[in-house]
Amino acid sequence: MTKISQLQEIINNSDNIVFFGGAGVSTESGIPDFRSESGIFNSLKKYGASPEQLVSHSYYIDHTEEFFNYYKENLVFKDAEPNPAHLKLAELEKAGKLKAVITQNIDGLHQKAGSVNVLELHGCIHRNYCEFCQREYDLNYILNSKGIPRCECGGIIKPDVVLYEEPLNNEVLNSAVNFISKADTLIIGGTSLVVYPAAGLINYFNGSKLILINKSQTPYDNLASLVINEAIGETLSQIKIE
Ligand code: ZN
Repeated sequence: MTKISQLQEIINNSDNIVFFGGAGVSTESGIPDFRSESGIFNSLKKYGASPEQLVSHSYYIDHTEEFFNYYKENLVFKDAEPNPAHLKLAELEKAGKLKAVITQNIDGLHQKAGSVNVLELHGCIHRNYCEFCQREYDLNYILNSKGIPRCECGGIIKPDVVLYEEPLNNEVLNSAVNFISKADTLIIGGTSLVVYPAAGLINYFNGSKLILINKSQTPYDNLASLVINEAIGETLSQIKIE
């Protein structure tokens, strides 16, 4: 039995699947992981700082303009389109099999693909708020601003994205824990599972089928019912929904 047919069988037999995804889900949409080796190299060369430093709360406060330059160049991919992974997950939700998508990505591609219950642990580039009056602005406004994006009131407009040193949104985190703890099948894709909070969330899973789909190995491979070391879009595109 191939790994794809094993995955197909697990999905056929489940109606309470939760998907947890990392950066690898978006790379097939042409969004590079800014924390990858080449991402680190380029940020050091151009900004003299690592991606983690550049996307941190203290850098945002102390070097606001450089933060936005880096952010617009490296974290926002306005024209990216959903790939087969996003599309299949949306289909699985429509078919009543998948209950939630939990993502560490900030690109909004799951919603663009049609997913409804999406828990964005790290926020989303499409929501932006004035720090002073809370007025909401869209992504285009941020991209069209020169330098620091400013509200009509003069306040700085901050993307609703969780920066390093900032806490995760508790409501989103609790909801993620709730869905994971009730799921019978947890599919984890496109993450090496070494970064907080991914590793912690896995511990709440009580179901019987843990599936890991990632190009490289993860520390949890030995706990999984099924491990597929392939690209997530390529893998999920082969799944048929009855
Ligand atoms: Zn304002």
